[in-house]
Amino acid sequence: MSDACDCTPTTHDLKPYEEALELLLSHARPVAEQESLPLHQALGRVLAEPVRAPIDVPGWDNSAMDGYAVRLADLPAEGTRLQVSQRIPAGTAPRPLEPGTCARIFTGAPVPEGADAVVMQEQTRRRGDEVIFEKVPPAGANIRRAGEDIEAGSVILEAGTRLLPQHLGLAASVGVAELPVKRLPKVAVLASGDELRMPGEPLQPGTIYNSNLFTATGLLRALGCEVVEMGQVADTLEATKSALAEAAGRADLVLASGGVSVGEEDHVKPAVEALGRLDLWKIAIRPGKPLAFGHIGETPFIGTPGNPVSLFVTFLLFARPFILKTMGLKEPRNRALQAVAAFDWPKPDKRREFHRARLTRGADGANLVEVYPSRSSAVLSSVAWANGLVVLPENRAIRAGDRVDFLPFCELIGWGS
Ligand code: AMP
Ligand code: MG
Repeated sequence: MSDACDCTPTTHDLKPYEEALELLLSHARPVAEQESLPLHQALGRVLAEPVRAPIDVPGWDNSAMDGYAVRLADLPAEGTRLQVSQRIPAGTAPRPLEPGTCARIFTGAPVPEGADAVVMQEQTRRRGDEVIFEKVPPAGANIRRAGEDIEAGSVILEAGTRLLPQHLGLAASVGVAELPVKRLPKVAVLASGDELRMPGEPLQPGTIYNSNLFTATGLLRALGCEVVEMGQVADTLEATKSALAEAAGRADLVLASGGVSVGEEDHVKPAVEALGRLDLWKIAIRPGKPLAFGHIGETPFIGTPGNPVSLFVTFLLFARPFILKTMGLKEPRNRALQAVAAFDWPKPDKRREFHRARLTRGADGANLVEVYPSRSSAVLSSVAWANGLVVLPENRAIRAGDRVDFLPFCELIGWGS
């Protein structure tokens, strides 16, 4: 229960989550620059332009089975015998099929001109050079037609697609060797607070380890960003201003954790205001009510609360969609799945809660959600325990068995698609 300013008694001055997200997204500008990358370097990048197939796939009619290619006119009834006039393994170019004969053919091999069906070998008996056909196939049986999968000239990958292994395979299947991708966005990360020490350093009284730096840079790298590490900033206005100005000059987005409240030790807010403009939004969610958004010069700035859990959650709910849009992805918003509550939540908050939770599989195969027992936003171990966030609606009690929205970390952390 340790969000900054939990004292706010009403919610009427708080922005609803969707409103804050849409406002934030309206400021995200997809990076304009693009580059051309060979397929094996393009994994995880975002496609800058649509890709069209230069060829048909398959390129020619081919056999879907190991068997015999026939002219149906030569196969009037079950029990017909035909001479084998050629053998067509995959990778060879056949001669036209001689009338009154059949051709031995293998999966993926081109169907010879004149043939109008392939009979699978399980429906035949071989007698030396002859084949006895036990079935009469319908016209076109076991033939994959040219262009059946992809037609030459058609768009196979849309701009804004995150390039996953299957997309690279698809591009390769039409012979495309390089793809036009967006440049990686650069995100500068800084953590403010004189109390912070790096792991490996000794702690003095009153100091804590800088965990946010590792959480934030890890989230950014998992998203596929280039991270500009600005390190730790001393709690003075001058140090904060100069670090922010440098960060803005080197990155497409500046992400800062901590120092965005209004205490006299919180210098991020006045520093951004001095260098550009800043809004401090109070959002009707927990954890992570305050979110700072602004610009340093032209560079967008997102400031999250310093609390480790608030940083994590506000990153996933706000910074992630913002960065995905900056990367050029078509749909940057997080997707929830539905699951069944395995808990009671009798005292709902006035704010929507994104609570640390764990998805498990119930005995009947249902997706069950358990919640972490504490609401504290200072407990980082809760995030390590969880495998997602459950959405607890404002002002609505939940009973075990109710349907709830669940945001799995496998969707929220990493590339997304
Ligand atoms: P602030 O938002 O600066 O008021 O910080 C809120 C709380 O988060 C304080 O308890 C800070 O010590 C803690 N905190 C701030 N920055 C970090 C950080 N980088 N790593 C771990 N804890 C932090
Ligand atoms: Mg601080």
